[in-house]
Amino acid sequence: MPKKPDKNQFHKFKKYSLFATTKINNMLNIVLFGPPGAGKGTQSAKLIDKYSLVHLSTGDIFRANIKNQTELGNLAKSFIDKGQLVPDQVTISMLESEVNKYPQAAGFIFDGFPRTQAQAQALDTLLVSKQTGINLMLALEVEEEELRKRLLIRGKDSGRADDQDPAVIQKRIDVYNAETSPVKDYYQQQGKYRGINGIGEIETIFGLLCAEIDKA
Ligand code: ADP
Repeated sequence: MPKKPDKNQFHKFKKYSLFATTKINNMLNIVLFGPPGAGKGTQSAKLIDKYSLVHLSTGDIFRANIKNQTELGNLAKSFIDKGQLVPDQVTISMLESEVNKYPQAAGFIFDGFPRTQAQAQALDTLLVSKQTGINLMLALEVEEEELRKRLLIRGKDSGRADDQDPAVIQKRIDVYNAETSPVKDYYQQQGKYRGINGIGEIETIFGLLCAEIDKA
């Protein structure tokens, strides 16, 4: 009988492979990944504190622009209200100008970006131009039923319009599954993907994330 592949084999290999996740040009750059409602915002806040990183949340930046009624905000709103992604070109150029605001950063937590393969490639190109790169993608794994529950609760607490309509929530989950989830493969191929159980106490999940960063 052929031996079943050991699930951990790839991880063991990665640890000693060329894809070592030490700081790149003295920066620690992390993609915090996961479906809407996975807890990326909550964990980002704790991670930036502990590791002195800059938090770049594309969702937060869009919402700030919507609040200030900028041209970018008005454009983004038309997509966000429907649960669709803001077009890549718009999102990528916004993200690039945000990164350029922090030339002295010790590193970044990218929260909600990249959400498409094109965004992942653009991020790599940008970071390479700064002689750095992504160290790790940490992915919070939470099943759909739990996401729906969390988002509706968040909608009540925060007043966020896109969290109040079950049809918009479902659309975002569907877009995640179709367009965003494949971005995992991009990082997996580079040996940078780490899946983390996103259900449990906030502190427990934070501990799991930190353990991956500290191992890297
Ligand atoms: P959540 O993770 O709960 O969906 P976010 O705050 O990350 O919330 O994003 C809110 C909305 O902003 C998304 O549904 C999407 O319309 C838009 N958005 C955020 N980041 C991106 C991105 N990287 N590419 C395209 N659209 C984005």
